[in-house]
Amino acid sequence: MAGEDPKELLFLCALQNAVKHGGVPQAGAVIGMVMGAHPELRSKAKEVSALAKEAIADVAALSAEDRVVTLQSRAPEMFAALSEKHEHKKVLPDLEKSEKGVVMRFAPNPSGPLHIGHARAAALNDAYVKQYGGRYILRIEDTDPKRVDPDAYEMVVEDLKWLGLGITETVTQSDRLPLYYDLCKQLIERGGAYVCTCDNEHFKELKQAKTACPCRDQPVEKNLAMWQKMLDHGYKEGEVSVRIKTDLNNPDPAMRDYPAFRILDSPPHPKVKAHVYPLMNFSVVADDHFLGVTHVIRGKDHIANTRRQRYIYDHMGWQVPVYRHYGRMGIEGVVLSTSQMRLGINDGTYSGWDDIRLGTMRALARRGISPEAVKNAMLAIGIGDTDISFSWDNLYAENKKIVDPTANRYFFVPDPIEITISGAQKHTAHAMLHPGDAARGTRTLEFDGTVLIPNSEITPDVTMIRLKDLFNVNVTWDHGTPSFTFAGDSLADARAAKARIIQWLPVQQAVPCKLLTPDGEMTGACEPQVKTALGKVVQFERVGFVKIDFVDADGVKAYFTHK
Ligand code: GLU
Repeated sequence: MAGEDPKELLFLCALQNAVKHGGVPQAGAVIGMVMGAHPELRSKAKEVSALAKEAIADVAALSAEDRVVTLQSRAPEMFAALSEKHEHKKVLPDLEKSEKGVVMRFAPNPSGPLHIGHARAAALNDAYVKQYGGRYILRIEDTDPKRVDPDAYEMVVEDLKWLGLGITETVTQSDRLPLYYDLCKQLIERGGAYVCTCDNEHFKELKQAKTACPCRDQPVEKNLAMWQKMLDHGYKEGEVSVRIKTDLNNPDPAMRDYPAFRILDSPPHPKVKAHVYPLMNFSVVADDHFLGVTHVIRGKDHIANTRRQRYIYDHMGWQVPVYRHYGRMGIEGVVLSTSQMRLGINDGTYSGWDDIRLGTMRALARRGISPEAVKNAMLAIGIGDTDISFSWDNLYAENKKIVDPTANRYFFVPDPIEITISGAQKHTAHAMLHPGDAARGTRTLEFDGTVLIPNSEITPDVTMIRLKDLFNVNVTWDHGTPSFTFAGDSLADARAAKARIIQWLPVQQAVPCKLLTPDGEMTGACEPQVKTALGKVVQFERVGFVKIDFVDADGVKAYFTHK
């Protein structure tokens, strides 16, 4: 327990109790805690009891948020003890065959930047590589030129860097076409694949009827010759495909002799000149095998692919990796479809890939969500196979744990009204930059008679307000018009009068500020120091955490992060 001074001990115990249970602690509980840990104090019961009352009053005077921050900074070990007992820390389940370390991969298609849906696979695979040691491969899966956005190669890498994943190497599938072609040849030689010239409709009918198409039984030599002809541009787009021999009696028609290669002439691939492209199931198996991938963690939507892919492993006599498929994750409230995002960006609906209405990593970053919070939220979701909906509240709670101890506090007055307070002297207010960290210092606000306060705070029932870190103000009403008079410094008076403690700004120091929230724009003013926090998350007191997005001579633009 931090500190040996009984006064400090009692304060910290009262504080810990309040953080743990909410509300104001009972004196008995606090005294019991301190006496238990420090039996030598038992002889001073009277003194301890008096000090406990003071300590409880001090704790009661703090807001819930300030209690957490104070405990975190004055007794981090007591704060940590709370989460050990109360936060059921979810540990990822063990993976079999992980004793010698793992090789895992994250395999996005470069169709746009990464979004919150990608974050789960990215973070879970990363966590396992960190847990067991090994390699973490970023594999850019760009063998479908119809789904490649040339800018996405770079964006994906940037997004992963932002997330802070331990990628050890990056491979791009379009660089590896010769490897796939070679494997296809081997597969044909082993009788595991054939070149099929049946038209799609006809093949589908045969497949439904569990009947082999005429190409299936072609001799290997014929298949090899046709395969070479494919590579030599001897066939046109749509004329042929390579199919993997599976089981025509498989109850799922989609498993029966699925395609592994196709010919495509348009659109051209932005990175390679190619005519024959592997389909996903083929290139994924080739790479998982040749890159030595030991464990694959991906969504349930890939279960059918896993089944398809096993046929290739069987034909080649290869060992399959360990697979885990996690459940679906519904994500509401943001746009996630890459094509919809792109359309919106092109027609000006969205300002770019980081428009805060989108679910991209860059939009989250712009709103002040930290990469650690994204990773922690994903690890908390884990690899369970139950379908779930993504909880923004959990992400915000994770983010708050990270930003709360670091974010400076400032006043932002939404929809301000200017009021003149009579009877008050000129005064300099010193407000703490962070309530839990006095060393960080204060910001100074010069009171000279007139201030801005939120219009919404002055309702006809209000008779007293307290301007935070300044003084109390009486509000008197005359035919619906309020007037404001100085009412002393005493915090106790303000409490007794149940006065709201509100944020304010000196008119001459107020900087115009726009706060963009999911519910629309708030216009108001903020402290001048906010201008120095460009790119940072700060707390606008009584409003919430915000990210300072833009600053110029005319003012500040901020994005609401969360409460
Ligand atoms: N690139 C594919 C995807 O993003 C395959 C990933 C995988 O095999 O796990 O869905």
